[in-house]
Amino acid sequence: MATCAYCGVTILFGGVRATDDPSVRFCSAYCYDELTLEFIAQEIPTEIVQAEAEWVLQKACPSCGRVDGDLDVYSINTVTSMLMVTWRKTRQQISCQRCGQRAKKWAIFRCLCLGWWSLPLGPIFTVGQIRENIAGMQGSDAGTSTPSRALQDQVRLELAAEMRLMHLAASEVGHFREAEDAGAAKMDGSVDSA
Ligand SMILES: [Zn+2]
Ligand SMILES: [Zn+2]
Repeated sequence: MATCAYCGVTILFGGVRATDDPSVRFCSAYCYDELTLEFIAQEIPTEIVQAEAEWVLQKACPSCGRVDGDLDVYSINTVTSMLMVTWRKTRQQISCQRCGQRAKKWAIFRCLCLGWWSLPLGPIFTVGQIRENIAGMQGSDAGTSTPSRALQDQVRLELAAEMRLMHLAASEVGHFREAEDAGAAKMDGSVDSA
């Protein structure tokens, strides 16, 4: 039975195959994207990531606009349950400590209101997500003037995403040029035969 190369889930039908190696399979386009993103991220030199992270640290908080030099990454974990279905969501937010804590408190409140209402996963996920929210409440090493490890990791992923976009755009232009060249060749051909 095939398994997803990223999350390890068993692929019953369908799935996505890697373009450069069709024997590598993924349960979804999401998993394929995540893995390619990690590959690109690993290739970015640490010095570039550090320089970028230090620059990000000096920026204003994207949520409140204050410049405090205490930007960090906060994972915001929520869960929504309804009878048989349970949605669990985690997103990474770059912000100052105050905004990070506020978002985490709001997420805990949300979990408490909307998390419980399915069995058996609702209560299990609710407790788990609330724990995750409490765990990172203080930021990784907030208060220092150097970017935290988590901030560097997040910056690395964002750089990788940018590079992938640029790569996609470049290959789109490439395909367009190829199509254009092919079109021109065809026209030359028809002129010759006429
Ligand atoms: Zn997967
Ligand atoms: Zn803020």
